[in-house]
Amino acid sequence: MLHTIKKIGVLTSGGDAPGMNAAIRSVVRTCAFHDIKCYGIYRGYEGMIDGDFVEMDARSVKGIINKGGTILKSARSKEFRTKEGRQVAYDQLKKAGIDAFVVIGGDGSFTGAMVFNQEFDFPVMGIPGTIDNDIFGTTHTLGYDTALNTVVEVIDKIRDTASSHNRLFFIEVMGRDVGHIALNVGVGAGAEEILIPEEDLGLDRLLESLRRSKASGKSSSIVVVAEGDKIGKSVFELKDYVEENMSEYEVRVSVLGHMQRGGSPSCFDRVLASRMGVKAVESLLIGKSNYMVGIKNDMMDLTPFDQAVKGKSKINMELLRVSDIMTV
Ligand code: ATP
Repeated sequence: MLHTIKKIGVLTSGGDAPGMNAAIRSVVRTCAFHDIKCYGIYRGYEGMIDGDFVEMDARSVKGIINKGGTILKSARSKEFRTKEGRQVAYDQLKKAGIDAFVVIGGDGSFTGAMVFNQEFDFPVMGIPGTIDNDIFGTTHTLGYDTALNTVVEVIDKIRDTASSHNRLFFIEVMGRDVGHIALNVGVGAGAEEILIPEEDLGLDRLLESLRRSKASGKSSSIVVVAEGDKIGKSVFELKDYVEENMSEYEVRVSVLGHMQRGGSPSCFDRVLASRMGVKAVESLLIGKSNYMVGIKNDMMDLTPFDQAVKGKSKINMELLRVSDIMTV
């Protein structure tokens, strides 16, 4: 392979997600495979500005493929949003002889990388790591599959108590802008209703649907609510509203929160991370820059950063219909 890049940096930035460690491992080992030096950059762009780098070899990433979180730590950096901050980051990279980097993070991290690339003509590549799956240019982001499995397992447990006490549960899951998690776990865990940011079910239809499910002989119900659902009410307000209008139900609320971001990555996320790390490094080595690595139709794919950050990831509307049919 022809290339002039000799040292590649790798960082994790923004919110953490399961699979980030597997991606770090893959970047480090792909560098080792191609005889390129690899540097871990701690604490995202914050650590880049501070010059917080450590050389990593193939053995330094042993035993992390199954670990959640990120061994390199993650951070949000206000300073990197300024030209002066990015200049310091550039000087630090140059001082260490790092001539390209791979950033594992969300669209904010990619915007930062894109701006940096434009200012300093510095080779950059991105790997999407976020449980929300809200990035255009890939059908799966790292951590999303793990989060689905984590949430489905929890809902199964909540269902045990819901059915023992004839209760209705509103379960809030992550997803401020897109309903991928809510929609998929809703179908996967057999929820009666799924409330997502993309569709306004409306309070009347929600009550109607719950009444129908009660009339069909169901003694307990699960409603999955994405954080950013269109009805615009918090899960607690929904609980109050349903209790006022359906005294036959005892309603409980469960907000799953940060536990959705933790845990050991699923096999799918480990494999995806391994493939994305290889693609990111090998793309840099053949002179590509300013792209996000993604997966489409089970193939690795590159999307220019500007498209990845501007585009909107779309939910699969077919799942809404499947959910309606399943709750007949
Ligand atoms: P998550 O999806 O978890 O929010 P993210 O990558 O979108 O992840 P952000 O906090 O939006 O997280 O961005 C991470 C970091 O990227 C910011 O703290 C900042 O340092 C850098 N960044 C974001 N936007 C810009 C920008 N417009 N210019 C320069 N740097 C930016």
